Amino acid sequence: MFSSRFFWTAAVGYLVLAAAAAWGFGQGSSPGAGILIWEAVLTVAGFGVLLTWGVLHRAAVRLAGITESAAARESGGALWSAPATPRGSARNLESAIESMNRQLETRIEELQRKSRQLQESTERLETVLGSMVEGVVAVDDSQRILFANRAARNLLDMQVTNPVGRPIWEVIRHARIDEVIRTVLAGGEATSLEIDLPRKHAVVAVLASRLPGNPTSGVVLVFHNVTELRRLENIRREFVSNVSHELKTPLTAIQAYAETLLDGALDEPEHRTKFVERIGEQAGRLHALIQDLLRLAQIESGDNVFDVRAVEVSPVVRECIDEHLAVAESKSQRLVTQAPAADLNVMADEEGLHTILGNLIDNAVKYTQDGGTISVRWRIDDGMARIDVQDNGPGIPAEHQSRIFERFYRVDRARSRDVGGTGLGLSIVKHLVQEFDGSIGISSEPGSGTTFTVRLPLSA
Ligand code: ADP
Repeated sequence: MFSSRFFWTAAVGYLVLAAAAAWGFGQGSSPGAGILIWEAVLTVAGFGVLLTWGVLHRAAVRLAGITESAAARESGGALWSAPATPRGSARNLESAIESMNRQLETRIEELQRKSRQLQESTERLETVLGSMVEGVVAVDDSQRILFANRAARNLLDMQVTNPVGRPIWEVIRHARIDEVIRTVLAGGEATSLEIDLPRKHAVVAVLASRLPGNPTSGVVLVFHNVTELRRLENIRREFVSNVSHELKTPLTAIQAYAETLLDGALDEPEHRTKFVERIGEQAGRLHALIQDLLRLAQIESGDNVFDVRAVEVSPVVRECIDEHLAVAESKSQRLVTQAPAADLNVMADEEGLHTILGNLIDNAVKYTQDGGTISVRWRIDDGMARIDVQDNGPGIPAEHQSRIFERFYRVDRARSRDVGGTGLGLSIVKHLVQEFDGSIGISSEPGSGTTFTVRLPLSA
């Protein structure tokens, strides 16, 4: 109950006081009722002091225990329940602190893990967006740029190194983009549009979508460069229209001759043979056109249609010359060849090489005037086989030279038709040469002739 040290100190103190009183009275006065009264008073006072001290001490111990347990509950919850003694309280406090420490460590580790995960996913997102071909720009609700990937910076020609934080209208000056952002921010649906970027010579498809939130937290814009797509679409449209036109011309002629024959020309022997011959010619044109179209489609299909291997040039040149001898003779043209001492072998498909040289010789014979000369030379030049097909015909003006390899491009449309051209010959030649890893060039002077130069890899 009480601290025993204090109890014994108080008891001894009382005895000393009692002994001192007895001795004092014994010295100065005679013993009697006064002494007994003093002793009784001292005894009662002594016990009173001891009792009061004991009660106060116990109360103090209790109070300390209650205060500590309340403090522990406040800081960590119900970690222990009954502080029996100050020593027990200290132990409980220690274990509570340890438990709090462990909980804190666990929380810190968890937070660190979450922060790492967040950083990793942010980095992953930035890598994905950074490697995208499409440009991505995100703006907040006040049109300030939150993010712009590299493709967007290049495509939109952003002049600033770091556009983040700047108003989008300051970085991308395009009225239609401003308009679409405002519309989407005002609650509009995701919107797509196509814009021209004259400085970049590009056509760009834009998709603008709202960022989540109510009101929205911004707009994300995705930019897709569709210049090449639009160019190919135009080529396809142009090609379909050209093919239709090319097919229509001979068909219309055939139909007209047939109708004329049925309308009575069949009974006119001097006309009917001529008309039937014309029908034959036009049918031949149709056939040549369809053949060329099929060949072009086959080359462009990318299927492995060629058997590329070492091909000797001389025999192929000779075959092509032989095929054109009759026409050349009919025009009093000379067909000459100039072969190297040792023949060349090129890496090509034999039929493909035949088509290349056949088309070039055919054009030279077709477009060169009567009495002209066509020569074919081949040799090694700069580590490649070089084959020249030269004529002394009308030549090709400089402004047409870069376009004559396009499909259906003709310098003189009427002349080409007169001589049975399809407008596809040089296009086929160029595709084939490229297919065999070679190149084709032209050198021409109007009035003095044309030389087509084909370069092909030599076989090892
Ligand atoms: P085409 O069937 O009309 O000959 P090509 O593609 O072979 O079509 O040739 C394209 C155009 O190039 C021809 O229409 C012609 O105007 C011109 N051309 C080609 N070869 C010659 C040449 N040797 N001399 C002059 N013009 C040529």
